[in-house]
Amino acid sequence: MDVLLVVDMLRDFMTKEGALYCGDDAGGIIPFIRKKIDDCRKSGCRVVYVCDSHRPDDKEFRMFAPHCVKGTRGAEIIDELKPEADDIIIEKTRFSAFYGTGLDETLKELAPETVFVAGVCTSICVMDTVGDLRNRDYRVVVYKDGVADFDPQAHEFALKRMADVYGAEVA
Ligand code: ZN
Repeated sequence: MDVLLVVDMLRDFMTKEGALYCGDDAGGIIPFIRKKIDDCRKSGCRVVYVCDSHRPDDKEFRMFAPHCVKGTRGAEIIDELKPEADDIIIEKTRFSAFYGTGLDETLKELAPETVFVAGVCTSICVMDTVGDLRNRDYRVVVYKDGVADFDPQAHEFALKRMADVYGAEVA
């Protein structure tokens, strides 16, 4: 059994009117992820969404414009990738989806052979989460066509670092 981890595919990052829009180029990953989600569900792999869900006074907003405030439209998963009943949704408040969440326990229960990773932003929540996956010795595949970043240089660097330093497969 495998897991497909879908990182922060939320309205505030992925729609033009969103508070921290990742840019038009990022939209290209949506159909790719849509297909991976469909394939995953068909093959019995589990889809796990990890989603920013901040308090209105979150300290992260000292660095970034307020975004993905819990209960607001901006914190919702985009319509194109809506979860289904069997999917798992984990709310997070920091870059790594492990920090202060139940992801560690969830993955221990699921015991995936491989964790496939897609979403945004490559150099922030994707990279930090992949680092923590590798700290736990999961086999990780990052879909290079399934991740995006508002900063193209940071995107390229993050892909390289995840491969060379974390030992993730970038495919
Ligand atoms: Zn955030």
